[in-house]
Amino acid sequence: MNTSSVAEELVSINPANGEEAGRVPVTDPDALDAAVDRAWRAFRDSGWKDLLPHRRAAVLRAIAERLAAEKEPLATLQMRDNGKPLSECRGMVDYAVGAFQYYASACETLETDVTPSRGEYLSFTVLEPHGVVAAITPWNSPIMNDATKVAPALAAGNAVLLKPSEDSPLLAPQLMRIALEAGLPEGMLQVVQGRGADIGTALVGHSGVRMISFTGGTTTGRAIGRAAADRIVPVALELGGKSPHVVFADANREHAVAAVVAGIFGSAGQSCVAGSRVFIEQGIYAPVLDAILERTKAIRVDMPDAPGVEMGPLSSFHHRERVDAFVRRAGQEGGRLLCGGGAPEDPRLGRGAFYLPTVIDGLGPGAATCQEEAFGPVLAALPFRDEKDLIAQANGTAFGLACGIWTESFKRAWRVGRALEAGSVWINTYKQSVTSTPFGGFKSSGIGREKGLNGLRLYAQVKSMYFGLQETPLPVAK
Ligand code: NAD
Repeated sequence: MNTSSVAEELVSINPANGEEAGRVPVTDPDALDAAVDRAWRAFRDSGWKDLLPHRRAAVLRAIAERLAAEKEPLATLQMRDNGKPLSECRGMVDYAVGAFQYYASACETLETDVTPSRGEYLSFTVLEPHGVVAAITPWNSPIMNDATKVAPALAAGNAVLLKPSEDSPLLAPQLMRIALEAGLPEGMLQVVQGRGADIGTALVGHSGVRMISFTGGTTTGRAIGRAAADRIVPVALELGGKSPHVVFADANREHAVAAVVAGIFGSAGQSCVAGSRVFIEQGIYAPVLDAILERTKAIRVDMPDAPGVEMGPLSSFHHRERVDAFVRRAGQEGGRLLCGGGAPEDPRLGRGAFYLPTVIDGLGPGAATCQEEAFGPVLAALPFRDEKDLIAQANGTAFGLACGIWTESFKRAWRVGRALEAGSVWINTYKQSVTSTPFGGFKSSGIGREKGLNGLRLYAQVKSMYFGLQETPLPVAK
């Protein structure tokens, strides 16, 4: 883990140099009970859920403004917390700002339905908050993932208990502070800290939690889904991926190669939508793979705040061990290591959890390397014969989060895009993921859609209301 328990604290270790980045107190079970009570009191008594939407929106906008004003310190803190390049961390703060702005606008403009009546009444729907919502996030993009859940959940009127990863615990308390300074009532956003196995389990099993929104690994998602089913509370699961990135012979090769490399090695592969399997049409397999290798070997791996850095360290030392074990196993499966496969030799990087961008080929689509998520800078290259072969191979995993398709034929892009089992399909682009467009997974990559207007409805329940209009008393039911 990126953190180690010292008494009642989590200590975040900067993976670029092994030094302490900060520490936070762990929430114990009594403190969790108190936080849930406080959240319910705030939900019922603070007036937040009863504020007119444009008033709630004003506070969300104030949160966005304060986040923007603190962009540099927040980005630097996230860089130290999980090792991502500073430029990426800045982008994630921008994303968080955009999420609060977007859900402020959505909050005051979202309309509900007047439904066709079948009698003498007026019927329509209203949206009600769930009450207290648990938002559980992973370590790879803390401020972005936190904002993706917190902004719509608050916009819908809920109180939120935000549980960040034990490996990146430093950003969530800052978001809470900023929200309170911006005028959010006390208790409407609280942070729960600790390990998933103990406080995470206690949070999802708590009888006071009425909805669970989770982003993280598929194994954890299954456990949380089971806990939600036991208590019959709604759950949204954003889980892992093994996304295919497809290059057809008619593609713009330069653009495709750049996107394939950026699509897996951006964020050092620690992205749920990382394009970790590249499928290259047989006739162009060798030259496209050569171009990918050439570009991969030129990636600048460096300290996350170095000018021009393209890949920083992995987020923790124990995660580097996991990624390395994944690569070793690929060798045992018969994979050919074409580049990377270990830590860089540069002595300046020796104290950090760095790992070189790695490309492997020679494996069949059923190999574990091509089936399981590494969540690191590891790309598996596979050839395909034709569309049918491609679709069978690309869909042949448990996951279905995203995919990329490079072709100049819009008809093929349409056919293949519809046939691939993925929540996001990028055609002649990759990794566009914006607040205003729904995001989520097919198959084991998740349940539900965050972002966009769906992202707000996720945190609300529909109530149908009927106003009787009849002039005469209702007849007695027979
Ligand atoms: P993880 O599943 O180990 O942990 C995620 C969060 O869940 C952490 O806060 C953790 O403390 C908590 N947790 C763990 N066990 C729990 C339990 N039993 N009950 C309640 N909470 C528990 O994932 P991770 O290693 O932090 O993140 C990497 C994973 O996240 C990858 O699989 C990646 O694909 C996925 N991810 C998905 C998306 C998406 O939007 N689909 C985005 C980012 C990351």
